[in-house]
Amino acid sequence: MIEIIPLPALKDNYIWLLKNKISRHVVIIDPSEAEPVLDLVKSDNLIPIAIMITHHHWDHVGGIPGITEQFNIPVYTPKTETVAGSTHPVGEGDVIALPELELSFKILDVPGHTSGAVAYYTEERVFSGDTLFTAGCGRMFEGTPPQMHASLSKFKTLPDKTLLYCGHEYTVANLKFAASVEPDNKAIQERLQLAEEARSLNQPTVPATLAEEKITNPFLRCDKPAVISAASNFSGKSLQEPAEVFAAVRQWKDNF
Ligand SMILES: [Zn+2]
Repeated sequence: MIEIIPLPALKDNYIWLLKNKISRHVVIIDPSEAEPVLDLVKSDNLIPIAIMITHHHWDHVGGIPGITEQFNIPVYTPKTETVAGSTHPVGEGDVIALPELELSFKILDVPGHTSGAVAYYTEERVFSGDTLFTAGCGRMFEGTPPQMHASLSKFKTLPDKTLLYCGHEYTVANLKFAASVEPDNKAIQERLQLAEEARSLNQPTVPATLAEEKITNPFLRCDKPAVISAASNFSGKSLQEPAEVFAAVRQWKDNF
């Protein structure tokens, strides 16, 4: 009996809360700020049991001190990154068991946006931070294109019905770019229309299934002829390797 609550924070961040609807225990993922979390904890009588962090950027960790001041709970962070307040460094292959939620989370190393970024996977839900976005992916601040491409490919190995929960509300802008890469992809047009409708009603467009991502997210489609051809046109040379195609599409998006 798990409820997943999107808590909008800062300009376009999402703090994700996973709540046991019966016991009201809650795990907090990427608290950019403490205040909205503490307000909800108070108003809904929630019991925080853990914080999980996908990467060290300030807009994902800023709320740690304010929360841990009031609740002495474990703070899981990527083991190769420095995060103030970390109590449990985690990396590929580690498992976090949270009996209060009757859930276990598997850790995936997904470097590229930052050098030590991780994702948290549990029962067909994945919390990807700023690595894989709905219809897009994060900028490569610390990683290389082959590294980021390998990380994105790791998400593709998860079951199709896995729900993707990412760190920002970027879907509409991402789909506009996707439509430029693949103007003939009708699934992108349809998804863009739905995303625009949702945003006009102030509804989140996250999560999305990985099945949906695989047909509309250009960064997961670097092996598709239409994307290879568009990336080759953009870069002015014939690209073959998916990691090279990825690098070109990422550079294109950076300048879009
Ligand atoms: Zn980030």
